[in-house]
Amino acid sequence: MFTVKVYVLRLGHRPGRDKRITTHVGLTARAFGADGFILADVSDERVLEKLREACRRWGKRDFHLECGVNGVKYIKEWRKAGGVAVHLTMYGLHLDDVVDEIGRSSKDILVIVGASKVPRIVYELADYNVAVGHQPHSEVAALAVFLDRLFRGKELHFIFPDAELCIVPSPKGKKVAKCGEKKNK
Ligand code: SAM
Repeated sequence: MFTVKVYVLRLGHRPGRDKRITTHVGLTARAFGADGFILADVSDERVLEKLREACRRWGKRDFHLECGVNGVKYIKEWRKAGGVAVHLTMYGLHLDDVVDEIGRSSKDILVIVGASKVPRIVYELADYNVAVGHQPHSEVAALAVFLDRLFRGKELHFIFPDAELCIVPSPKGKKVAKCGEKKNK
């Protein structure tokens, strides 16, 4: 679908209060087509375990998960290795003006989202500071819209071949099947 690697780097996670939203950032990264999720500067195994569990049940076991890395160093090394760093911030350039250019690049993409105030150096290190509209909202919303535009909606149709469980689309109620069963219907 997309040959370059896309990782999401979560900055500013506060284990005492951000567990749920950071988990949602990771789930959104996985479901919207990213290849990995990195939790910078702190270790929070509870978040990673939730994401591993989602990968086991719903597929994408090769989704890269890491925590406790130095965020600024990670961005520097990503760029040094030839990748591009995209920081999502309402202060940046409008998504519509840059997403095609980012998508055309053959470089791996590191998408950076904050929690609390993002340090100035991140704005400077980023190749692109991208606004998903110029209103304050949430890292989950910003990430979902950015990835959806980057992948042009194709990621929402992807079924992970290693999934244990698959949804059977239903107009009402919930239908879940073992993936093999669904494929054989
Ligand atoms: N007050 C914080 C600051 O000034 O950096 C922002 C906090 S916001 C709740 C958390 C994260 O959501 C931001 O760091 C950014 O990554 C993302 N975000 C929120 N609104 C955004 C927007 N309009 N465009 C892009 N990203 C946005």
